[in-house]
Amino acid sequence: NVPGRGLAPLVLLWGETRAFGDTGLGKAHWPEGHPACGGRAQSPIDIRTQRVQPDPSLPPIRPVGYERPGPALLTLSNNGHTAVLELPPSLRLRGLPRSFAAAQLHFHWGRAGRRGGAEHLLDGHRAPAEMHVVHYDAEHYGNASDAQHHGGGLAVLGVLLEVGADPHPAYDNILRHLGSIRYAGQATAIPSFSIQDLLPSRLDLYYRYNGSLTTPPCFQSVLWTLFQQPVHISLAQVWPEPQLLVDNFRVPQELNQRRVLSSFPRGESGPGGVGRPRGGLRRPPPYPSNSSWSPS
Ligand SMILES: [Zn+2]
Repeated sequence: NVPGRGLAPLVLLWGETRAFGDTGLGKAHWPEGHPACGGRAQSPIDIRTQRVQPDPSLPPIRPVGYERPGPALLTLSNNGHTAVLELPPSLRLRGLPRSFAAAQLHFHWGRAGRRGGAEHLLDGHRAPAEMHVVHYDAEHYGNASDAQHHGGGLAVLGVLLEVGADPHPAYDNILRHLGSIRYAGQATAIPSFSIQDLLPSRLDLYYRYNGSLTTPPCFQSVLWTLFQQPVHISLAQVWPEPQLLVDNFRVPQELNQRRVLSSFPRGESGPGGVGRPRGGLRRPPPYPSNSSWSPS
């Protein structure tokens, strides 16, 4: 019943799907063993920014306790699918319909030399990477494992990671330890740091929709918040060494009848739009043209 362990079953299944290779065939077979994966409210999605519905009543996201997580050490592990940092439930999110407690955060990466690894797309653009901070409804459930079975039981913050000129020190707190969790099942204790520093500065600008876990069992229980503002990290951080767990993203799913809301007016949502944060306009350095790179 340890919060954050609740999502562990997905991980074992991932090993199974990886056996199909990177062709995507594995993902196509998910619904056979996990019916929810074939549902009509799946994640991720490609957000068409001109079709979102602005909702001025959506309040800023307010993380509580993120700046100083309680324990001196946090557990970082390789679950065979991604790098997972367990978070104490003392980290809370306000600005959502209920009080949500943190469980874990993890990453979705591409492969070095290719552009995209993020799961959510904005107008067809796939960012190099994406971080998910998973929370559960702490008013109704004791942990993420229980909450994931119920609609709205989970709340996930999605942060798009774009390439900037400089390394991001907060991300380095995690990424410099990847060498210690090279193999599935490995875990290491890392010094605690401000989780808030991993988030974009504008927590009032986001997209909101109802969706799912992006890996089996794909339960449709996630209240998604995707921040409009990306966080810029360096090229080396986007494709950290060792290159473990690459291409661990799911392709965009059908929106069907769902609505995507935005916390800001539509005019501010497009690329280069009026309200786009300055950081979003920074030109990333050119990607390496080393096409002979191959995974180890
Ligand atoms: Zn994720």
